[in-house]
Formats: sequence, structure tokens, C-alpha cells
Amino acid sequence: MREYGLFIDGQEVPASHSMKSLNPYNGQPWAIVPDGTEEEVDHAVAAARRAFDTGPWGRMTAQQRGALMRSLADIIKRDAEELARIESTDNGKLYREMLGQWQYLPEYYYYYAGMADKLQGDTVPSDRPNFFIYTRREALGVVGAITPWNSPMLLLTFKLAPGLAAGCTFVVKPSEHTSVSTLEFAKRMTEAGFPDGVFNVVTGMGHVGAALVKHPGVDKIAFTGATETGKVIAAGAARNLTRVSLELGGKSPNIVFEDADLDVAANGVIAGIFGATGQTCMAGSRLLVQESVHDELLERIVGRTREIRLGDPMAAETEMGPVANQPQLDKVQEYLEVALKDGAKVACGGKLDPMLGGLFVQPTVLIDVTNDMRIAREEVFGPILSVIRFKDEADAVRIANDTRFGLAAAVWTQNVHRAHRVAHQLRAGTVWINAYRVVSYATPFGGYKESGIGRENGMDAIREYTETKSVYVELTGQPRDPFTLG
Ligand code: NAD
Repeated sequence: MREYGLFIDGQEVPASHSMKSLNPYNGQPWAIVPDGTEEEVDHAVAAARRAFDTGPWGRMTAQQRGALMRSLADIIKRDAEELARIESTDNGKLYREMLGQWQYLPEYYYYYAGMADKLQGDTVPSDRPNFFIYTRREALGVVGAITPWNSPMLLLTFKLAPGLAAGCTFVVKPSEHTSVSTLEFAKRMTEAGFPDGVFNVVTGMGHVGAALVKHPGVDKIAFTGATETGKVIAAGAARNLTRVSLELGGKSPNIVFEDADLDVAANGVIAGIFGATGQTCMAGSRLLVQESVHDELLERIVGRTREIRLGDPMAAETEMGPVANQPQLDKVQEYLEVALKDGAKVACGGKLDPMLGGLFVQPTVLIDVTNDMRIAREEVFGPILSVIRFKDEADAVRIANDTRFGLAAAVWTQNVHRAHRVAHQLRAGTVWINAYRVVSYATPFGGYKESGIGRENGMDAIREYTETKSVYVELTGQPRDPFTLG
């Protein structure tokens, strides 16, 4: 059994309370991690505050920050396999998925390392001849990052890479289900040469996140998690007007038109909903299919779904692992019951897996779903596909947008005019055309509507970690009328 302390001010610190982390595949505890207290959050924020306000970090040049980020990227590359094994053990997702994420993470740090020394202000073409005016892009300050269990370090990196490039410091609260990778990562921050206090970790239950949100020493909360938690966080942050960026849930439509290549589309539908056992914010959980190809597409999807290999997330041949924890399993089962009561029918799956038991759910395709059913309106975060029919393009767009979420969507068609026309009408932060579940460090990611506020990745993300300061320099040295606006 591994045992960890908190990570504060560059040191592993013994915790006053602890909790067990379970391996979802076998249900066994495998690590002991701290369940932090408000006082421990206080220590961590104080360390991050010192590092930001008076520490060597604040005096580093952007080039020096970039160099540290490149060293970190090299260390991640070196340790990707070990860190992926840890995440797969902690969250039950496939080792090959977690390894793919870890092998991709260095790119985020290289990309934003390159941005650190390009964060420049403007000289403003002044409308006042006696003023020279310029702007500075300054680091926002101390960031409280709160992350979920499905992709712990990928989703932290979405925040950390631009935040470090900007010069921020961090206190991180990972999910209580998957704290180990963040604590292991903290050691690599020190090895890379980041000064003490730049990166701190307080693990624990939701109350640790809540303590960060209300802390007056925190300048920004960067959150990924459920929409309902995001609303609580936004309300809490409002008390101090703490900045927030929120990456929340989804009920994303995967729209297949009759002119699509149905083999390719079926494959994309499978990737969209059964990849990561459906436990991704961008899961394509609503399949919108044109009536004329409904049966043809369904045959392909159900055929492939029945072949999905469930099993040990570490095994190379496994295609779908368990769901991540018991509450998640309960939620999936409850939604299945609700869907059937509302009139949906099971085309395949629909049960716990009889062979594997534990937290294994069969990949499930539900047909005869209408967009007003709860299964079509609420996020399940599990391997359940709801199939909804549509008549024509206008009908597809209407159903796709008839949701409180707006994280992602996909359009499957071979008609280039339709592809772009529909993409432009969809109210979602990401639209894929003839593809699903692709993200890139260079491309903004985030939600419309209740799927979030702000953008991560790409050039846009850096704005979430900087403040713009305007500096006015008087050029004549002459006094002016003190009773009028300048
Ligand atoms: P969650 O909202 O339950 O928990 C997320 C984090 O918030 C955890 O660290 C948790 O301890 C913490 N938390 C809980 N209550 C809190 C409170 N009152 N104040 C502060 N922090 C609190 O989410 P989860 O179950 O871990 O993850 C699944 C959810 O995350 C899904 O809804 C999914 O859609 C969403 N998600 C979104 C994205 C995205 O980028 N949009 C990516 C992945 C997951």
C-alpha cells in the first residue's frame, strides 16, 4: 500500500487525516492519501501566496519559466508509463488510454513554454497627445485548481500549463477518487526545478475544494467537474469575486445524416460513447440519426457494441474497463431504470456485466428515445447511448440544440456544404466533422451554456491566467484641470 502526505511549499507534509484510494477494477484499497482540512488549505494557500508575491518565481523572466516547463515536459516523457499505470489503477480507465494522455502531456508544456515569452502588452495609439499609454499582461496570481477523476492530470494540465506560462502559482485539489497521480506529479515539479510554493497539493473530499473556493488568498478557481458542483463553486467564488473558469458536463449530440459513410460514422459513434466507458465530459451520449438510415446504422452500432471486450484496464486487449466508483455505478443503474420507465427500449446491453460483476456495466444502446426524456437531457457519465431519430437538417439542429449543455457535437455527412452549415448552427464549444473525441493542446476547448465558462487550451487559455494592466504616462509635466476627467 502506498502512502502519501500533502505537498506544500516543496515538501511532502504529513497529513492530519487520511483516506483510502480504491482500485475500481478489483475494489481493493491500494493507496492512502490525505483528507485535508481547512487549516491545511490555509498553509498551502499561504505558500502559494508567498511564492507569487515575494518568492524567486515572481522575479524569474518569462524565458526562465519556459525553461522550467520544458524540463518538466522531459521528466513527464521519461515517467509516462509509471504515471499512466498509477492513473489506470486509480480510475479504472484503460492503461493504453492513460498512457496516450501522459505521452501527449509534454506537448502542452512545450506549447505554453513557448508562449511564456510572447505574452506582451500593446502600446496604445493614444487619442491624447500628452499621454503615452501601454498595457502589460500580468499573472493573475494564486490559482486554486479543482479536478475530477476521469483524466486527472490531463485536466490539471489544461490549467497548469497556461497558468505557469503566465507566472501563476497553484494549489491543487484533485478528486478524492484519484489523488495519487497529482501527488506523484508534485515531486516531478520539484525535480524540474520549480521553486517551493509554486505547486501545492491538498487532497481530500469536496470540503477541501470548498475551502479553496472561499479562501481570500486565492485569485482564481479553475474547475473541471459536474455542472451542479460548478454552480456551487461559482456561487461561492462570487463572495470574493474570485475569478472562475468552469469546464462542466455535457449531453453532446452525434448527428448522422443519410449521406454519411455509415461504417465510418458507426465507428465514431462507438468511440464517442464507449471510449473511456462513457466517462468523458464530451461523450457523444445522444445519437441523432436521420430516419431513412436509422436501421442500417443501428445494425452496425449494435453489432460492434456486442463485440466490445470488457476486462482488466491494464490488459492490452481490453476495450472497456469498469466505471470508476460505486456512486457512478449507482447513477448509471438509476438512469437505465428511468429510461425504460420513460419508454426507451434496450437494443443491446442494459445490465451489469454478469461475468465480471463489480463495477462493470455492459455497453448499452437505447432506442426509441425522445429528446424530452430524462435520459436525453441529463448527463449519465457512463456507457449508455441514447438513439433519437430526426427527419431533416432543420430538425437535427433543433434537437441538437435543445439541451442545457453545449460542450461538443459531431456531424457525419459527406456533403461539405451541409457539414459546415450545420457546424455553424450548433451551440457547442467544439464541433467535429466526420470524427469524434479529438482534442489538441493548440485548440480552445470549453462549453456553451451550462457546459462551462471560459476556454482551456490554445491561445485563448492564457487569457484565463492573466490580468491586463493599462499604464498612462504623462508626457508634458504640466498640471491640468483637476476637476475634469483626464
Ligand atoms: P465532481 O463535480 O463531483 O467533482 C469534481 C471535483 O470537485 C472533485 O475534486 C470534488 O472533490 C470537488 N468538489 C466537490 N464538491 C465541491 C464543492 N462544494 N466545492 C469545491 N469542490 C468540490 O465531478 P466528478 O464526478 O469528479 O467528475 C465528473 C464530472 O466532471 C462530469 O460531470 C463531467 O462531465 C465533468 N467533466 C468535465 C470536463 C470538461 O472539460 N468539461 C472534463 C471531465 C469531466
